[in-house]
Amino acid sequence: STPVATFCALSKAATSGVLIKGGEYLESLSKIKIMAFDKTGTITRGEFEVTDFHSVSDNVALNTLLYWVSSIESKSSHPMAAALIDYAQTLSIEVKPERVEEFENFPGEGIHGKIDGKDVYVGNQKIALRAGCATAPSIEGHCSEGKSVGYIFLGAAPAGIFSLSDSCRTGVREAINELKSMNIKTVMLTGDSHEAAIEAQKQLVGALDVVHDGLLPKDKAQIISTFQKEAPTAMVGDGLNDAPALATADIGISMGISGSALATETGNVILMSNDIRKIPKVLQLARKTQWKVI
Ligand code: ADP
Ligand code: MG
Repeated sequence: STPVATFCALSKAATSGVLIKGGEYLESLSKIKIMAFDKTGTITRGEFEVTDFHSVSDNVALNTLLYWVSSIESKSSHPMAAALIDYAQTLSIEVKPERVEEFENFPGEGIHGKIDGKDVYVGNQKIALRAGCATAPSIEGHCSEGKSVGYIFLGAAPAGIFSLSDSCRTGVREAINELKSMNIKTVMLTGDSHEAAIEAQKQLVGALDVVHDGLLPKDKAQIISTFQKEAPTAMVGDGLNDAPALATADIGISMGISGSALATETGNVILMSNDIRKIPKVLQLARKTQWKVI
């Protein structure tokens, strides 16, 4: 394409809320054959709601457990944290972040903090190992189907189980079908459980070609580099947890960003709105621009 065509395409994309950080990315975009998406906050809204919350220990009252969990979660920016804090507040439980010490965040796993002299771990099955427990407790009879499941440990002892639901963003199914009609393979990469991944795929009526679950941020990057041996691959995700995968991909597309994070944001393309339907549109624009001679 010519400089003029490139300039026109970049400004057209920007007007529609898609920031492309340079003309060279327009060319890479036109060559993309595989598009991988993060789940939480990308395919789904990332607006969780707590659907179950149980104590599995005789030694701790449910309200105490919820007070510990919500206080520690108030140090986390994960979408699940907001849901747990909301849930506690709905039950009139006081959240006390000032009591939390030694907060630790384990991306793709969960969190740890010390409160009232207790070591509390909250997260998925992987957090069991951090807590020093060989396996997470069984969710049998505790959680409804197709939900994201969370576990709570006090030290190495299982203390609680909860589940959360989330839903797909509007237009995702449409966007994925559009990408498929453009001969692009669509993939979902998630740190969430198999059950939650299957549920999202169900909501999309099985539109995605490939689904990988239970991944750490570095696993996502690893899978992207495997896809790259097949064909040029793009990754769509949030610039925080997905930074390694976004940086590995031929094109990193980030979304769900607030103004101040813009400058430091990982990603060659930034979706200012969270409308995934803009992705096939910008790919079409990139492909067209490659053919334009002014
Ligand atoms: P995704 O890849 O779907 O965006 P994330 O990488 O954000 O998922 O998180 C993966 C998993 O790690 C979550 O599904 C959750 O089980 C666990 N997790 C991460 N942070 C937290 C937290 N603050 N509280 C509870 N669980 C968490
Ligand atoms: Mg995410």
